[in-house]
This record gives sequence, C-alpha cells and structure tokens, in this order.
Amino acid sequence: MQPQLEHDHSPVCPSCGGPLIQKSRTRLLGVGLLMILGSTLAWLVPILHIPAIILFLTGLYLLVWASFGRGRWCRNCKMFLPGR
Ligand SMILES: [Zn+2]
Repeated sequence: MQPQLEHDHSPVCPSCGGPLIQKSRTRLLGVGLLMILGSTLAWLVPILHIPAIILFLTGLYLLVWASFGRGRWCRNCKMFLPGR
C-alpha cells in the first residue's frame, strides 16, 4: 500500500508550516485582468494616473499570484507562496 499524497487536499506553508488558503485561480486571473483593463482606461484620464498605476499593479499582483503562487495564500506569512 502506498501512502496517499494529500498536499492538494490540505496544503501547508513550506516556510512556516501553517495552513494555506486556496483561492480560485480562475477568479484571481479574471479579477486581475479586469483591473489591468480598467487601469488602461483610467490612464486615459490625466487626474486618474495615480489610481490607474495602483490598479494596474494590483491586477498584476493578482495575475502573478494566480500563475506563480497558484492561488495559495499563507495567513501567517501574509503572502502568496510561489509554486514549486
Ligand atoms: Zn507561512
């Protein structure tokens, strides 16, 4: 009998060993893309340049989280975990 690997079932943080929260990657990607799209529209308005940059960076962060972080978040470390 082989032991079952369960890291998808109950993922733990590789740095602190705490439980990980799994967010929907599709949702993260969707929201991230919407934010980047919104930021490019906001960029057209001069007074919205600063919010546009913030929105763009937040959207980019979500995309990186979804792709490299695989949607996993550690509550203890307050950051997403890069996929192996
Ligand atoms: Zn951690």
